[in-house]
Amino acid sequence: MSNIRSIEYSILPFNFRRLPQRRLLLVNPSGEFSFVSSDDFNDLLNHNLTPLKPVYFEFKSKHFLADTDLDISQEMVATQLRSRKSFLRHFTSLHMIVVTARCNFICDYCHASSASLEQQRVDMTWQVAKKTVDLIFSSPSPVLKIEFQGGEPLLNWPIIKAIVQYSKFLNRFAKRQLEFVICTNLTLLTDEMIAFIKKHELIISTSLDGPKHIQDCHRKTREGFSGYDAFRKNLQRLREAIGSEASSALLTITRTSLSKLPEVIDHYLELGFDGVFLRALNPYGFAQQNMAKLGYSMEEFVVAYKHILRYLIDLNLQGTPFTEYYTTLLLQRIFTPFSTGFVDLQSPSGAAISGVIYDFNGEVYPTDEARMLARTGEKHFRMGHVLKNSYEEIFAGDLVKELVKKSCIEVLPGCASCVFQAYCGVDPVRNYVETKDIVGHRPSSDFCKKNTLILEHLFQLIDENDPDVMDVFWSWITRRPLEEVRHDSFKWERN
Ligand code: SF4
Repeated sequence: MSNIRSIEYSILPFNFRRLPQRRLLLVNPSGEFSFVSSDDFNDLLNHNLTPLKPVYFEFKSKHFLADTDLDISQEMVATQLRSRKSFLRHFTSLHMIVVTARCNFICDYCHASSASLEQQRVDMTWQVAKKTVDLIFSSPSPVLKIEFQGGEPLLNWPIIKAIVQYSKFLNRFAKRQLEFVICTNLTLLTDEMIAFIKKHELIISTSLDGPKHIQDCHRKTREGFSGYDAFRKNLQRLREAIGSEASSALLTITRTSLSKLPEVIDHYLELGFDGVFLRALNPYGFAQQNMAKLGYSMEEFVVAYKHILRYLIDLNLQGTPFTEYYTTLLLQRIFTPFSTGFVDLQSPSGAAISGVIYDFNGEVYPTDEARMLARTGEKHFRMGHVLKNSYEEIFAGDLVKELVKKSCIEVLPGCASCVFQAYCGVDPVRNYVETKDIVGHRPSSDFCKKNTLILEHLFQLIDENDPDVMDVFWSWITRRPLEEVRHDSFKWERN
């Protein structure tokens, strides 16, 4: 018979890890977490906890244990898990189209191994483009985001225009939430393009590695000249026409910029950007060939990441709002039950089922990296061809089934028992590049190393619970001004 001093409870599933400062982190399958001492952890496992200890109720409310209400606890965990997996309901929403493989630049780290300006055979034709749009509208997703990529997509401007106009025509009947993004170096922007971008509300994503002396290190025109001045002038023209909200920049971190990230961030601010995505260099295309010159170890990257994260937190605290997007995605995964839509932090992986890429020649690949791999002759991830295969053959073929089956993090070796499993994701194409196997090998994976070290650092900060740091994190998660978040925290403490 049980009483308040000894009560029978069931221990629910969770993973755990000892953090560097000796406390233990416990995380259950729906992402609820708790920091505990070794004594409390041992008491939990040995069924020695009683409701007389406050930690009992913390474990109960976060579903690490259940006493009289096992069914309710299981149902609560299942509901949270359903929210985390809600991205599965809608299928593919991000559709990237490579309208040309040509580029007026030749960057040292180009993943796409771009082609020279004369090679017009690597431009997408209208026949392929039209069929691609038809396929995109076969997706059941209520949101369709069409992202134009290259090469430099502005080199095939007539096809971009035709795709936008045809998509809008189809959408008069399909009634989806339709968005367009152009990923461009901006140097070829004309007045006619700006007018079209404004009229059709296209979003611009450009590339910025830092101030001119950093940008010019690895981003040069095919003739070997700097493109920085043209980029800056056109960014200004674009901003004047469409405002600053509709443009963002992508940072590629090389060995050159790794130790200069504060300078890079200052330049982002100078040009009016309010956030950055800190991205480690990926081993594809020219980047792989030039790794000795451009690369660094993942440990070096994470040291730089921690340093710049502190710099960004201080910037925000001093009154300059600026967001780091990768940290924000991880914090959203940690603190909310919602899916982020970021394909690399999903289980199963978002490859093909959340995002897909159509190459200029009509071939379809699950990720941009898979398309880049195909450039080297490795076509393992070719899902099909827009002119030769139906929607069902492309999206419900053996390759997609295999990708989904082998990218469920909950059962992957190494991930199945990892404390960070609920927040992490899978990159099957990168696994294949590194090991020739979609499943991959966690102990030697840089993707795993990066996420382990970054998540460990974030949990350390969360455990320290510095109100300033937490307020900045919440302003990033909720996209609200820091002052507003602080005001709410103050009200919360007083109540
Ligand atoms: S990839 Fe690494 S960090 Fe992520 S869940 Fe798997 S083992 Fe954990």
